[in-house]
This record gives sequence, structure tokens and C-alpha cells, in this order.
Amino acid sequence: MTQTKAFAALHPKQPLQAHKIERRTPGEHDVAIDIKYCGVCHSDIHQARDEWGRGTFPMVPGHEIVGIVSEIGSKVTHVKVGDPVGVGCFVDSCRTCDPCQQSLEQYCTSGMNATYNSFERDGKTPTYGGYSEKIVVDEKYVLKIPKHMPLDRTAPLLCAGITTYSPLKQWNVKKGDRVGIIGLGGLGHMAIKFAVAMGAEVTLFSSSDKKREDAKRLGVKNYVNTSDANALANFSAYFNFILNSASANINLDEYLNLLKLDGSMVLVGAPENPAPVSAFSLIMQRRRLAGSLIGGIKETQEMLDFCGEHEIYADIEIIPIQKINEAYERMMKSDVKYRFVIDMSTI
Ligand code: NAP
Ligand code: ZN
Repeated sequence: MTQTKAFAALHPKQPLQAHKIERRTPGEHDVAIDIKYCGVCHSDIHQARDEWGRGTFPMVPGHEIVGIVSEIGSKVTHVKVGDPVGVGCFVDSCRTCDPCQQSLEQYCTSGMNATYNSFERDGKTPTYGGYSEKIVVDEKYVLKIPKHMPLDRTAPLLCAGITTYSPLKQWNVKKGDRVGIIGLGGLGHMAIKFAVAMGAEVTLFSSSDKKREDAKRLGVKNYVNTSDANALANFSAYFNFILNSASANINLDEYLNLLKLDGSMVLVGAPENPAPVSAFSLIMQRRRLAGSLIGGIKETQEMLDFCGEHEIYADIEIIPIQKINEAYERMMKSDVKYRFVIDMSTI
């Protein structure tokens, strides 16, 4: 065991503070990683504040982890000491169920072992995330980062990147499709980058006018300020695909009505409370409503390689770990351009 510096929420709804955790001594298939950067996802806030319930405390959030391999177990073949690597939202899964066999480990039928606020396969050892100096992970759950990629701007790809890449691929978004993205935050800005790279015509729904210039720079064709009561009127039955990345509840019916025949709306935003849907919003135009959870190891690697090839990285604000509580407050006000990334040398 190695004592490791971390930042943790000791109780729900309390500010995060410096804390010590233990990392296991690497086993034969383990990779020990010196964490260089960790992105700050809105899911970290939901969980540190126990908005999804059943949280385990003390909680060390962080699942957008990049770092350098510092040690490997005797049977590790996938990476070597000195390699740049990443760890996303899970660190293990059963490896035998249908989804695991298809490298859709996030849908493991016995439950993936999340990077934090979860337990290892033994069901009792808590997992601690990336707001820490080091992590030890089985090689199967470690992603390789192409060497030319900037580590700080790559960290958010491990969650915000894959969470938006996966549904765009799964729903086969292609050149000329009309894609709507709801919310310009960490997920939203990556969704725009991917949809633009796939050749779609992108419309952004944003709750203010503040992000208009940035949206244009990111390649958005239509910017819709949803604080205007008539904002959605021009887009009735317009879209092939809408991705909802808002961290708070919105009126889903209003957006479903913007889908054309057989169009789909996919939810990735995961607000605290449920939201109602009228059957008529789906019946009319045979619309589909679905959800999507991050992505499996195979697809996450594919996404990282795609980003390396197309030079797609997150737009970030680097912070020292001591500013994490301030960063959470700013994210609650949609005030981040467009992902906070913790420089872990400050811990
Ligand atoms: P974020 O950076 O805080 O961005 C969320 C955006 O939602 C904000 O920038 C804002 O965009 C919009 N928003 C916030 N409050 C709103 C409101 N009241 N009405 C309308 N829009 C609002 O968050 P994130 O890290 O991108 O995460 C977004 C959500 O996805 C969170 O719920 C998170 O837990 C979830 N998530 C899900 C998965 C998954 O696998 N499904 C993975 C990661 C995260 P505008 O300023 O443009 O309105
Ligand atoms: Zn996340």
C-alpha cells in the first residue's frame, strides 16, 4: 500500500479538502500511474453533493485522469513505464457478461466498478478517483494516449469526450445531418467539436446569450438563446438528432417536438430529479428518446485516436487543486470555458 495525497468530500454537501488515501501495491496485471491532470466533470459535483443518492464518503472524485506510467506488474504487456495513459469512468467490470464481451464494459450487467464512489470487484474496497497524485488500475482499463497529444487538454476526453462521441457514432450522425446540442459546457463543447468533424450542421441551444461568439468559433451554425420564449419556434420538426447535455432539467417535450420523422433525442445529462415526457411528443413523427452512458474501452481508445488524428482537444481552464470548490461554484453558474482541469503538481 502507498499513502497518497488526495482531495475528498468527507461528507455530502461539504467543501472538498485535503485528505490521504491508500493505493494498492501493483499486482501482476496492474499499472501504477502518476497523475498529471484530472478534468472536473459535472458528475463529480452531482456525486460529491450526493445528488444521485447512495454515495460513499469520504469521496475522492475525478474520472478524467491522465498521467505517466510509473510502475507495471510482471504480466503487463499493454503499456510500459514512461507511457502517457488515461483512465476514465470505470476501473473494472465482470469481464464475462454480454456487454463486457463486446467491450461495452460501462453496461456490465453486474455493474461496472466506477473509478470513484464505487467498490473494487471484491465489493468492499472503495474506489477513489483522480483528484489525487497516483492511481493503480488493471491494464485492461487503461487507455493509451498518442504521444503527440497535450495531456492537459486530453484529460476531459476521458469522460466528456467519450460520452458525446459514443452516441454520435451509435446514431450514425453523418455529413449534412441536422444536429442539435443542448447546453454548452464540458460535454456540450466536445459534442459540437465531434458533430462538426463528422460533417453535421450543428445548432446549439444555450440558456443565455453569453456563449454566442464561442459557439461560432466552435463551428455552430445556429445559436439559439433559450431564455427567449419563442426561441424554439423556427425549428419545429427540423432535426435528425438532438443530444441533451444539460446538467439541470429542461422541458423535454419542447425539444422532442423539434425532431423530424424518426429523429432521436439522446439524454446524456443526468440531473438530480426525473422529468416528465408526453406520449404525444413521441407518437407524432415516430420519434425516439434514448440515453447513453460514457463508452467502453474499445470505443474510448478509438475516440482518443480519432482526436489525435484530427487534433480535437478540450478547451480548458487549468486550476490548482486548492481552487476546486470555487470551480464547482462557477460550474453551477455555467461559468467555465469549457472544462476545468486540475494541475495535479499543485496537490
Ligand atoms: P457542465 O460543464 O456544468 O455543463 C452543463 C451545461 O448545462 C451548462 O454549461 C449549461 O449550458 C447547461 N445548463 C445548466 N443548467 C441549466 C438549466 N437550468 N437549463 C438549461 N441548461 C442548463 O456539465 P458537464 O460536465 O458537461 O455535464 C453535463 C451533464 O452530463 C451532467 O448532468 C453530468 O452528470 C452528465 N454526464 C453524463 C454522462 C453520461 O455518461 N451520460 C457522462 C458525463 C456527464 P448553457 O450555459 O449553454 O445553457
Ligand atoms: Zn464525467
